[in-house]
Amino acid sequence: MFATLLTLLSALYKAMAGKTPERSFIMVKPDGVQRGLVGEIVKRFEQRGYTLRAMKMMHASKPHLEEHYKDLSSKGFFKDLVAYMNSGPVVAMVWEGKDAVKTGRKMLGETNPLASAPGTIRGDFCIEVGRNICHGSDSVESANREISLWFKPEEIIAWDPCIKDWIQE
Ligand code: ADP
Repeated sequence: MFATLLTLLSALYKAMAGKTPERSFIMVKPDGVQRGLVGEIVKRFEQRGYTLRAMKMMHASKPHLEEHYKDLSSKGFFKDLVAYMNSGPVVAMVWEGKDAVKTGRKMLGETNPLASAPGTIRGDFCIEVGRNICHGSDSVESANREISLWFKPEEIIAWDPCIKDWIQE
C-alpha cells in the first residue's frame, strides 16, 4: 500500500516536472497493412524522433474493435468501420516522446484524407475516410485507454535509444 503510494507520488512528480514522456497509440489499419505501408509509417515516427515502445500485428476481433471505437457507436458508419477494421490484420504500436499525441495527430493529417495536407500520412497515401490507413490517439486520455486495451503492461518495453541525447535536450 505504502509502496504503491510512493510509486504514484513519484509518477505524479515526474509528470509535473515534465519528465514522463507522452505516449500515443498508433495503429496501421488493415488497408495500410495490405498496401505495404507499415514500414513507411514506422519510418516517419522513427525519423521524427519518437521511440517505439511496443508493436504487434493482430487480427482484432469485432468485440475488441467495438470497444476501441465505443465513442462512435451511435454513428451510422459504426458497423462499416468495425467491419473494415476487422477485414485483416492491423499493426498496433505505442510511440513515446514529447507531445506524442498532438504531434502524432499532425503527422497523420485529418480524418478525411482529402482534407489532409500533402506531407501528412493520410495526405500522402489515401483518398477515402473509410480507408484512411492509420489511427492515432486524439488525446492523452484516449491514448492511455487505447494502450491498455491493446497491450499488456509487460508488452511495453522500457529502453532508451542510444541517440536519445541527440534528439532531446
Ligand atoms: P480519427 O480516426 O481521425 O480519430 P474518428 O475517431 O472521428 O477519426 O473516426 C474513427 C474512424 O472512423 C476514422 O478514422 C474513419 O476510418 C472512420 N470514419 C470517421 N468518420 C467517418 C465517416 N463520416 N464515414 C465513414 N467512416 C468514417
